[in-house]
Amino acid sequence: MKLKYINDINPATGKVFAKIKCSTEKEIDRSVEKARKAQKKWAALTLPQRSRMLEACAKDFVKQKEKIGRIITDEMGKLYKSAVGETHAVAYGIRETIVQAKTALAVENLKEENLRTELHRTPIGVCAIITPWNFPVSMPETLLSPALIAGNTVVFKPSEMVPLTGKAMYDIFNKHLPPGVINLVQGADEVGSYLIHSNIDMIAFVGSQAVGKIIMKAAGDKLKRIVLELGGKDPMIVLNDADLEKAANFAVNGSLRNTGQVCVSVERIYVQEKAADKFTTLVANGVKNFKYGSGYDESVQMGPLVSKRQRDNVLSQVKDAVKKGARLITGGGIPKNNNGYFMEPTLLTNLSHKHRIMNEETFGPVVAIQKVKTEDEAVKLANDSPFGLGATVWTKNKKKGLNIARRIESGMIGVNQGIGAVSGTPWVGIKQSGYGYIGSIDGIRQFTVPRKISYKK
Ligand code: ADP
Repeated sequence: MKLKYINDINPATGKVFAKIKCSTEKEIDRSVEKARKAQKKWAALTLPQRSRMLEACAKDFVKQKEKIGRIITDEMGKLYKSAVGETHAVAYGIRETIVQAKTALAVENLKEENLRTELHRTPIGVCAIITPWNFPVSMPETLLSPALIAGNTVVFKPSEMVPLTGKAMYDIFNKHLPPGVINLVQGADEVGSYLIHSNIDMIAFVGSQAVGKIIMKAAGDKLKRIVLELGGKDPMIVLNDADLEKAANFAVNGSLRNTGQVCVSVERIYVQEKAADKFTTLVANGVKNFKYGSGYDESVQMGPLVSKRQRDNVLSQVKDAVKKGARLITGGGIPKNNNGYFMEPTLLTNLSHKHRIMNEETFGPVVAIQKVKTEDEAVKLANDSPFGLGATVWTKNKKKGLNIARRIESGMIGVNQGIGAVSGTPWVGIKQSGYGYIGSIDGIRQFTVPRKISYKK
């Protein structure tokens, strides 16, 4: 590998605070071999046995939530209280998987006249799990729990932005599971690339659309199974008759939460003409008053961006928009006297689809507003994207809102609310936002293949 060490940088200070050794080709091969060796025995355990071990992991995440929370804030800048909350929620995710697995993995006994068929859900084998940094424990959890409970073994590569968070997760799983069931490799794209071409059977990935496409191609060599959860460009449609205070509040928090680094953040807003002025004024107030600073400061609402590269990309989209006629209402700059990767909460209006910021994923603290005349225009623009992850519609007329929602090409749509859905339903992106889905009984079954044994009575 060209890169020998990851420089772990605190994005609030810009300082390197740890150096982590990248895995070599040999070490990656060895991890895959270890996973392969452990797999049959792991799969041969009963579901209650595997569940008990995963429950022990869940308990440990709760116990270590403050410690892991600090690592997260130091590595990627998010608010400490969100980091602790996210770590606590890992336990919830594991427990939900344990419950759903009882249905997902049960052997089905089917009958037809005097024919009998047992339908088994068999694990796929060795699964590579490659994850991003924005939710550095919850994203890995959504793939690790279903892969493991189904009887697969895992080689886990956390993002190079959060290697110590990844190590802390690995340590918990490895402590409670048999040796070789989970293995850790560290590094950036080269390590990921080597891993996906290695002797594995499945790749489960959360990250960018670009890398998702690379993975899909790489999987073709041996028809490896894949699950891909990719980015989004979530539209928010605000109609003339919306509750504008509620909508503005959602627009601000939905765009700026986690410094905008959320795959389902509000990335573009289409507001109908009559509501536009009032809505924009309310949003502007919210953006101007949105406090940012160190993730340890309890009074702030967002921390820095994860890296300089990430901030440069957001700033270049803002610059492109302003150059092509957008109005910068507030923000758009970098605070002075700071070496971290902070950026002012930003509001842009007068936007259209000729601006990059309305087409490319921004992943930064920007609220982007475009005016539209009609509902049809809003729907057309919302669907004018290769992405199809989340979306929201805001109107006091619920029936109209539902009808519009049904026309939007996204996997998860909220009417007068975010995308939060009834538990047990999958997290899903359509179009180029994903391939497969996460969570739910069907989500667990993606980590298995059905096998049938048939006989006459
Ligand atoms: P982000 O820019 O949000 O980190 P990426 O898709 O670049 O999103 O990264 C997500 C994960 O994919 C990270 O763990 C990263 O190291 C890994 N990765 C990046 N490039 C490749 C690649 N070519 N093959 C496999 N994994 C990769």
